[in-house]
Amino acid sequence: MRLCSFILLTSLASAAAAQSPINLSVDLTDAPRNLLRATETIPVQPGAMTLVYPQWIPGEHGPTGPIINSTGIIITTPKGERVKWERDPVDMFSYHITVPAGVTSLNIKLDFLGTAGAQFSAGGSTSANLALLSWNTLILYPAHTNAADVRVTPTLKVPAGWKYGTALEPSGKPGEDTTAFKTVSLEQLVDSPVLAGRWFREIHLAPDVTPQHFLDLAGDGPEDIALSQDHIDEFSKLVRETGALYMSRHYNSYHFLVTLSDQVAHFGLEHHQSSDDRVEEKTFVDDSMFTENGLLLPHEFTHSWNGKYRRPAGLATPNYQEPMKGDLLWVYEGLTEYLGDILAARCGIWSADTYRDRLATIAGYLNDARPGRTWRDLQDTATEAQILYSAGGPWDNWRRNTDYYDEGELLWLEVDLTIRQKTNGAKSLNDFAAAFEGLGGNTAPKVVPYTFEDIVAALNAVVPNDWATFLRTRLDSNELHAPEMAGINALSGYKLTYTDKPNYWSTLEEGSGSLNARWSLGFSVGSSGTIGDVIIGSPADKVGLAPEFKIIAVNGRAFTTGLLRAAIKDAVGKGPGIELIVENTGYFKTVKLNYHDGEKYPQFVRVDGTPTRMDDILKPMTK
Ligand SMILES: [Zn+2]
Repeated sequence: MRLCSFILLTSLASAAAAQSPINLSVDLTDAPRNLLRATETIPVQPGAMTLVYPQWIPGEHGPTGPIINSTGIIITTPKGERVKWERDPVDMFSYHITVPAGVTSLNIKLDFLGTAGAQFSAGGSTSANLALLSWNTLILYPAHTNAADVRVTPTLKVPAGWKYGTALEPSGKPGEDTTAFKTVSLEQLVDSPVLAGRWFREIHLAPDVTPQHFLDLAGDGPEDIALSQDHIDEFSKLVRETGALYMSRHYNSYHFLVTLSDQVAHFGLEHHQSSDDRVEEKTFVDDSMFTENGLLLPHEFTHSWNGKYRRPAGLATPNYQEPMKGDLLWVYEGLTEYLGDILAARCGIWSADTYRDRLATIAGYLNDARPGRTWRDLQDTATEAQILYSAGGPWDNWRRNTDYYDEGELLWLEVDLTIRQKTNGAKSLNDFAAAFEGLGGNTAPKVVPYTFEDIVAALNAVVPNDWATFLRTRLDSNELHAPEMAGINALSGYKLTYTDKPNYWSTLEEGSGSLNARWSLGFSVGSSGTIGDVIIGSPADKVGLAPEFKIIAVNGRAFTTGLLRAAIKDAVGKGPGIELIVENTGYFKTVKLNYHDGEKYPQFVRVDGTPTRMDDILKPMTK
């Protein structure tokens, strides 16, 4: 994150820089029991000292360091004398110690409980036969230092017979189960997780491309990592398409670290030279699951350029204790969502229809089922990001959520369409991506921060326009509907509309027997009758339904989703209203929905006679 002279580092004491490195040995042999163990030797000077546990985790945009599962902290001198630590009463991530006279290094033992249930990299990372190691979970470092200045020499021990993948480089010949890695900065270490497992496979993607790219897979069973040659070819094509789009690479080599397990947390976390991609066990061998997760690898890979190399100034912090500012996450995440999705189509992971159906679902939600936008603008969802990831659940449509992902995607699509229209197709967002993400050509991993003004200037260099007003109008809007949709409907060659047929993504969503009636009655409901969300202002809201109410009966008959779907159909036009008996915390009531417009699902339909710009965007850039 901080390897370059572009960055103004805060002038914090960096005594550690001149000293010998921290030695950090991590032992994964107990990982199948969810116990990850570390031994750390850290250079010190006698006197008062504060050690800190990483709190603000890059890519997670919040203070998510899993301090609650950091255990077994015992500090001793080289002679084995215990050094008592005391936690700071306000900053839970700080440990105060007094280093005895004459002591120049300390040994620290610490463990991490890899338990499921927590979020992101703090969440489940192990099973009986695999483990994903995030080094930040197992290290203390001196307070008030720059992560780029603190040097660490890591060593890793894995269970007998396991293999691993990582962007770290071994310092010599790897041992049987124990490997010593070259000394790196703390910043590089935290940026370089390790995926290890008994069922492990490394696939060299697009071998003709330099630097090299690897698909590293660990699964709960040997069959999980047997993905088809077609999928390998799609990932190789992804590598080639990013070369054409970004005209640069900012890593020495790249590793997709893919955990295929039902036992771990499911998410993706970006790094400069790798990505931590945790998905369900059968994702790479089941067609439907592969499509459903199709955006993950293109998204995390795109972050190597957009997020890691080019980073909003407020997220380019000098260490893991300094708070982050998320105001530009509609670029960091929103642009990544847009570029990642079009790359999924360009490399063949998705068909054009699959891409359009997903976009229709996003647009349907944000345009017609997000009334929270009348009190909270898109900008505020980014500004509040550090606490918003744990939101969700009842009344989500009224609170809003991390909408800078999906609405960011709509925003950047409209930007792309606008550039194409203003230049008669001569230029596009591809030109912006090459200039902005490819600044300086190929580089080693480093961080080049940017501001809102830098984004506006880079867009103006592609095509002159009042981009500042264009962006702020959409970011600051409190309109009921998404302000991006007027431009998308006018310029893409397609128009958002509603039909009574679920699109591909709605069908996936309803696969478990639920019914998504958000765009018709105004709620979603599970197969048991429990209501998910109720859209504020919808017919369901108007008759007093709420999330977590349970539908007992539809028109006098015991609830099933099939019965409710039939009732919506029967009510079309002059049909009968829909009568529901619902339960709320043990009390029952009957409501009648006067809704007669049938089922509604979003889709994009072609506008004949207009330029097919959305199709053009999805065309591969490579042969
Ligand atoms: Zn992301």
